[in-house]
Amino acid sequence: MQVLFNDLAAQYQAIRTEADAALQSVLQGGWYIGSTHVKSFETEFAKRCGVNHAIGLGNATDGLFLALKALNIQPGDEVITPAWSWISSAEVITQCGAQVVFADVDAETFTVSAKSIEEKISTHTRAVIVVHLYGKMAAIKPIQDLCKQHQLKLIEDCSQAHFAESIAGKVGTLGDCGVFSFYPTKNLGAFGDAGCLITNKEDFALKVRRLANHGGLTKDEHLFEGINSRLDSMQAAILQVKLAHITSWTNTRRRLANIYLEKLRTINEIILPRIDEPLAHVFHLFVIRAQKREALQKHLEQLGIQTIIHYPKALPFEPAYAYLNHTEKDFPISGQLQQEVVSLPLHPFLSREQIEYVCRAISSFYGY
Ligand SMILES: *Cc1c(COP(=O)(O)O)cnc(C)c1O
Repeated sequence: MQVLFNDLAAQYQAIRTEADAALQSVLQGGWYIGSTHVKSFETEFAKRCGVNHAIGLGNATDGLFLALKALNIQPGDEVITPAWSWISSAEVITQCGAQVVFADVDAETFTVSAKSIEEKISTHTRAVIVVHLYGKMAAIKPIQDLCKQHQLKLIEDCSQAHFAESIAGKVGTLGDCGVFSFYPTKNLGAFGDAGCLITNKEDFALKVRRLANHGGLTKDEHLFEGINSRLDSMQAAILQVKLAHITSWTNTRRRLANIYLEKLRTINEIILPRIDEPLAHVFHLFVIRAQKREALQKHLEQLGIQTIIHYPKALPFEPAYAYLNHTEKDFPISGQLQQEVVSLPLHPFLSREQIEYVCRAISSFYGY
């Protein structure tokens, strides 16, 4: 049996009629940038997130950069960000001329905690970026309190956690802003690069909108320098089609994840993701920590099962951050995770049989 890590072609087949019609309507309308499709997606996405403003952007990396810019982060400032994440949540800090300060993550949730952030606060700290990694919301309430206490700005990177919600509230609405990626493999993905920033603050929204469009809301307005980062009409139209399906896709992800959790729970050689609140995890990825990881991956591959490692190296140990001179002692948990994590196939176009097949393959590897 083949078990693909992702199957975007199957996703397209599932929405083909609607997707084709949406693209046709953009093509025939003749407005490929800044059309009513973009406006209407922004309006609907904001509503679904429960916020006042959504700003379509070229991608989430731009969104994080623009968030820091709009918050006036500049040289001399420090921004705290997870040691265990995709690089976007760190590199945008340097792009603002500020200093990257890594905080280690929690071994069970894979996200930063108020405690690990607090240890890194200095008189130069201006902001914190929290990443809701793998689809699971970080324990945000104590982080909100910490940021308030120290007057720090709070940015949520929701690139892997579309529409997650906890008792604290909906993802992306719990700090100054939330940033989403619509990269094709994300839970809500475009047919190319796309991203979005959400916020409840009108001034902040206006600032981001201008920064994303050469400093102005209209063609010849340039109040300051900005960049060019736009959600285009084709992507907006596709995203709007997919918005109608995302709840059902997320529910399928949760249902399949629960099969993994149930069938793998007796295997002592692996550690499974923990669910604290069911709605706070949207299972972008199903990441386990495994003994003999490389051998397990090879075993699964031979059985037609694709796995990926997110991520092979913690950010402080990447060559890009060698200048910080960090050692594994500085980030013991991230250092351990990079040797143990492996992501199992999980997407809405897998069947119960395929998930059970993966479970049997893992059980047999460990001799269960
Ligand atoms: C995918 C991702 C990004 C970057 O998104 P792009 O749209 O590709 O720029 C940022 N942060 C996290 C956690 C991601 O998973």
